[in-house]
Amino acid sequence: MRRIPILRPLALAAVAVALVLAVPAPAQTPEEIQKAVSAAYEKYKDLKEGANADYIPALARVDPKLYGIALVTVDGKVYAAGDVKTEVSIQSISKVFTMAKVIEEQGLDAIPKTIGVDATGMRFNSIIAVELAKKALGGPEINPLVNPGAITATSMLKGATRDEIWKGLLAFYSDFAGRPLAVNAEVFKSESDTNQRNQAIGYLMHAYGFIKADPMRATDIYTEQCSVNVNAKDLATMAASLANGGKNPLTGKQVIQTGNVPGLLAVMVTAGLYDDSGKWYYRTGLPAKSGVGGGIIAVSPGKFGIAVISPPLDDAGNSVRAQKAITDISNALKANPLASTPR
Ligand code: GLN
Repeated sequence: MRRIPILRPLALAAVAVALVLAVPAPAQTPEEIQKAVSAAYEKYKDLKEGANADYIPALARVDPKLYGIALVTVDGKVYAAGDVKTEVSIQSISKVFTMAKVIEEQGLDAIPKTIGVDATGMRFNSIIAVELAKKALGGPEINPLVNPGAITATSMLKGATRDEIWKGLLAFYSDFAGRPLAVNAEVFKSESDTNQRNQAIGYLMHAYGFIKADPMRATDIYTEQCSVNVNAKDLATMAASLANGGKNPLTGKQVIQTGNVPGLLAVMVTAGLYDDSGKWYYRTGLPAKSGVGGGIIAVSPGKFGIAVISPPLDDAGNSVRAQKAITDISNALKANPLASTPR
């Protein structure tokens, strides 16, 4: 076909316009990111609201002044303020990564089919939620980020022996963190001695047919997974791996399949901060997960993962300073995935 000369400059102009439109808003400079992180650190450094969890005795003994913020971008840059080295037990944040392993092993449908992906609207260790899930018509109405669903997810992990399951799980968490993680023996013992309520939940989930394996083994592995020690940088790296399509941006290892990430983030939106998940999402638009050890992770997909550790919790069991600091930083960095700018 013969080319008509005038079409060429027109086509080039069209391409140029399309390129300009497609260029995303300029990302923040490293200085701007560090400024946002440092500002949030300073602003909440002296805040005294909230109290350490004490239903697990060892958690009550953690220094409430411990406070650290880490942000890891998808291109592998690390920003920090405060104490990002001291370790605390990961607690419920582990639930995200156990769910990830179940999906990796059994596919995305395994979770909605056996546990559910709906909010319970109740506390993380609610037994009423189990009763309602049992009665629910049309399928399970619970999720893997509250204790009944989490203990069930742990019971679904593949492995011939307890030891094999545990080693596989710890290695999996470590791949997310980018370094070998280990258990806090004091917290594991303390929670094992006092976790009768979780044992009851495990038995109930077994009685109602959600858990098919030995419920006490599942509860024990669950308790051990909650006792894994992490610092703020570990948690931020774990979150950043979820922000980066399942690939750890510091080690370059593809930890989970990219296609499994959105489902995980969806449940973090629905239930990551338990019965306060809606309030959190309203303010930030970020999938997040908290733990009673004082950590919170949040994920800005395609941009960064962030984590804050500060043990004092509010009534729902979420770290007070972590919620405030992450909200400020996310706003400063325009990280809310639900926000758009009119053209
Ligand atoms: N290990 C804790 C429990 O089962 C985890 C709870 C949490 O972090 N919200 O009670």
